[in-house]
Amino acid sequence: MKIETKPLSPGLYLVSTPIGSARDITLRALDVLASADLIAAEDTRTARKLMEIHGLPLAGRPVMAHHDHSGDTGVQGLIALMREGKSLAYVSEAGTPMIADPGFELGRAAIAEGLSVTAVPGASAAVTALTVSGLPTDRFHFVGFLPASNAQRESELAELRNVAATLVFYESPKRVDEMLRCAAEILGGNRPAAICRELTKKFEEVRRGTLETLVADLDNLKHKGEFVVLVGRAEEETVSEADVTTALEEALLTMRVKDAATAVAGAMGLPRRQVYQVALSLSKKQ
Ligand code: SAM
Repeated sequence: MKIETKPLSPGLYLVSTPIGSARDITLRALDVLASADLIAAEDTRTARKLMEIHGLPLAGRPVMAHHDHSGDTGVQGLIALMREGKSLAYVSEAGTPMIADPGFELGRAAIAEGLSVTAVPGASAAVTALTVSGLPTDRFHFVGFLPASNAQRESELAELRNVAATLVFYESPKRVDEMLRCAAEILGGNRPAAICRELTKKFEEVRRGTLETLVADLDNLKHKGEFVVLVGRAEEETVSEADVTTALEEALLTMRVKDAATAVAGAMGLPRRQVYQVALSLSKKQ
């Protein structure tokens, strides 16, 4: 298929690039990279290489460096160029810009300026991993990288414990062991999970199991390349009517109806109104 080079309307084009296999680029991404007046990239070398692989001529167009540390002048400089009528294609190092990658400040500033912002969608490791993980895809919660410090990682995981969605984490090969052990301890070893390594590349590998079985097999895991870790949602605990009644009877010994209902509803994760009705009828009987 021939690449179409044609003038683009002014504005920002957020171009997704492959996460491994160079052929995972869309024809539209190639058209936009071939046609944009300017190209900005998180890593100019990677962007140049990508264009070279696909035979896209730069034809004198600049490739400007832009990442999260470019600061306000970086953003404002690019905004000024777009306001002058230029089309700007932005690529991050791999995958979709802004997904654990730079581009957010630039996109937000462009929107605030009333400039046109267009996505040229493509690969992202999070969605790619989700589809091969075997875990529920109806609801997922993208976490990205957890903090490196143990205490912060633990507290962030504790906050995620009851999220009713498949959790998606990015992780480095150096920290994947610690992260999995910590997740098993805090989220529960019996949670279904998957490790996806080197997706779309030659040594792609997907391991599925529970957090516990994946931790037990860490010695056989190659600690090389790029990793996505996914954890299945927390099982909804089924609370029986008898459990609610027992908890309420106990609470009503020391609390008023309203407080007992709030305490029990909170502890059991139930709607307060529903628990309040049971508490009220129990208090009447008592
Ligand atoms: N913007 C990218 C995206 O859309 O997925 C993510 C960039 S983030 C800086 C890089 C992280 O994404 C890696 O450390 C790894 O966790 C994950 N990742 C990227 N490519 C991957 C691949 N081919 N296989 C597994 N994980 C990958």
